[in-house]
Amino acid sequence: MTHKADKPPGISVIAVDRNYVPMMEVARRKAIRAVASGRAQVLNPANLDRSEDPCGAIYLIIFPHAQACSESKLLMGRLDRRVMRRDHYTCQYEGCHNRADTIDHIIPLCQGGRSTWQNLVACCLLCNQHKGGRTPEQAGMRLKKVPEGPRAHLFRRFEEILKDGSAA
Ligand SMILES: [Zn+2]
Repeated sequence: MTHKADKPPGISVIAVDRNYVPMMEVARRKAIRAVASGRAQVLNPANLDRSEDPCGAIYLIIFPHAQACSESKLLMGRLDRRVMRRDHYTCQYEGCHNRADTIDHIIPLCQGGRSTWQNLVACCLLCNQHKGGRTPEQAGMRLKKVPEGPRAHLFRRFEEILKDGSAA
């Protein structure tokens, strides 16, 4: 089984804004509807030209009128809740399988750490108390993975599509 197999089918079209920056993943049906209504156009991954023939497989669509999607908009809402969701409500420190009940600043606020996607992880109370006002290195703890922003997977997939497109 490849990692593509556990993606739900129909969520594999990436919508980009007019600067070709990935905005979101859309269901295939929605993508086709957007193209049919003229709001979006199909992109050919090989050369990023707008394709006149939308009948083949669709991987990328472009919204020519979409403004660059600002990171600040994505950060709206409760960041801590969204970090919890990103981390599947599980403590992100290695060796710990507890459900997360707190949000940890990897670099603590008292050491100049900021409240960003890359500096926040879901963490259980025990690990958080153990770590205290220290960095993971100072506390001898390690993260299971490097925390990422909400669209990191989109950029990776966008690159994959382009690579496949130019190889074909
Ligand atoms: Zn923990």
